[in-house]
Amino acid sequence: MVYTCYEMIRDCRENRPEGWSYFVPNYVPVVQKLVRRYGPGDSVLEGVLLAIHSPSNLFASLDPAPERVFVAALRQQVLEILDEIAPPAQPDIALDLETLTAALDSLTLVEKQAVWLETMRYTAAETATLLRTSVATIQKIRDKAGESIRAKTDGWSITLLAGNGRELGRLAAPDTPQCLPVKAFLDVIDGRTTWRGREEMDRHVNGCWHCIDHFCRMVEVVELLRRLQPLSEAEAEPFRKLWGLAAEKRPAWKRLFGAG
Ligand SMILES: [Zn+2]
Repeated sequence: MVYTCYEMIRDCRENRPEGWSYFVPNYVPVVQKLVRRYGPGDSVLEGVLLAIHSPSNLFASLDPAPERVFVAALRQQVLEILDEIAPPAQPDIALDLETLTAALDSLTLVEKQAVWLETMRYTAAETATLLRTSVATIQKIRDKAGESIRAKTDGWSITLLAGNGRELGRLAAPDTPQCLPVKAFLDVIDGRTTWRGREEMDRHVNGCWHCIDHFCRMVEVVELLRRLQPLSEAEAEPFRKLWGLAAEKRPAWKRLFGAG
């Protein structure tokens, strides 16, 4: 039987070592990328992993789910843990959703996504990769958005969006009955559908920060998984120790050929 994310969630819920042993090589790298982007970096990695391992956390309420849905939940969990153990600094200038909405009123959906990814601390180059467009296009959108935001706020700084990112994400958290399910966003990301020709969908999402945020979070998740390099046995060992897992016993021939 192939062991998948479904089995891992089930086993971690029941605190079975098989589940945690699967998590370490496959998802510690995801957690590492998240603490580098949204937190102070590797200095808090152990603290975050210990919090994830705590039985009251992530897995207690999680149903077995496909990998991308799981990683989206993991992302939220990591951000919540970071809020507790390494809260982001208060931004010099506060920015709320109403101001952002007023400033970006004339932008298209993709333009708003490009701006929102800046609140998620993605550079223009990284955003260009995520939205499959050119860096110049993203830079142009961000310059235009920056000017509009500047006109609506008392102050301005280059880090205004990133500095307010966590709070904006929280403000965008509540959904509405019209909000799209995750599958709709994954269909767009996977190229099964486009925004064009789906006018009703486009109209709602263009006016809904929850949906823009949800879409951007899923784009992030898909990219994290696409670039994922599982840890080698040696790299995984310190994290296995951290979680009190016994050293992995595998037949010598499996180690030799890297299988299993
Ligand atoms: Zn919505």
